[in-house]
Amino acid sequence: MRFFPRLALVLALGCLALASAVPVSAHDNDGQAMYLANEGVMVQKGAVKILFDPLYNQNYGTYMLVPEDMRRALMSGEAPFDGIDIVFISHAHGDHFSAEPMLEFLRNHSQTKLVASTQAVDKLKAVAKPDDMTIFSRVEALALGPNDPPLSFRLDGVEIEAVRIPHAGGPGRASVQNYVLRVGLDEETRVMHMGDADPALRHFVPLDTHWQAKRTRLAMPPYWFFYTEEGRTIMDEHLNAEHFTGVHVPADVDAVRRKHPDALKDADLFTKPGEVRALD
Ligand SMILES: [Zn+2]
Repeated sequence: MRFFPRLALVLALGCLALASAVPVSAHDNDGQAMYLANEGVMVQKGAVKILFDPLYNQNYGTYMLVPEDMRRALMSGEAPFDGIDIVFISHAHGDHFSAEPMLEFLRNHSQTKLVASTQAVDKLKAVAKPDDMTIFSRVEALALGPNDPPLSFRLDGVEIEAVRIPHAGGPGRASVQNYVLRVGLDEETRVMHMGDADPALRHFVPLDTHWQAKRTRLAMPPYWFFYTEEGRTIMDEHLNAEHFTGVHVPADVDAVRRKHPDALKDADLFTKPGEVRALD
């Protein structure tokens, strides 16, 4: 009799193993993007789960930080943040990426890979301890120059395409390696994360072949694409995406909407941590 509890535990674990081996539910199959904060988003479809710009310490007094409980769950790999395959970093600014928490995450999650600009990877290396060096075998550093053609590769079956698009804010930001990432979670389901891309047609038009080659299910431009004329044209005529959900919205959403009432009236924006968009 005294072995019953252990037997029950074994049976329970067996059921759990069985449950994870059966086909994923329709809900999981459909896929979704879940907002963390600022430009932090988790995207999952089928067995693939990825994060964009999830760990950062700065809000510059304007943007949203990832809520404390969400960040804790993310760090410890609690559901729904369990089993992250790849983390992507659009660029190495403090409201998108901080080296210490990112390194800690990679220490805690030995199966997770990182795809990031060389500027972000250099910051990681600067805070790494000698014991951390094996982590960098899981790190893919993106090193595109300003006018380089798009880069394309696969990582664990995930299709990754990167283009370098200048950071918004003018020539003073030219040295920032900002990436627009198009990521295919399966053959039909692609998402696009744009970092702090500058909404100028001259950056996007020369890459029309790249945008037109593959349809994107959900693109996540910074919200300034919605209230700039060229940003609108880039979304409507160039990026080849079915749906756009804006990110990088300041914490004071009402003030932003008051400032751009007409342009943002019909804009779909991520503004609340935990809110989701379906990918079907
Ligand atoms: Zn930035």
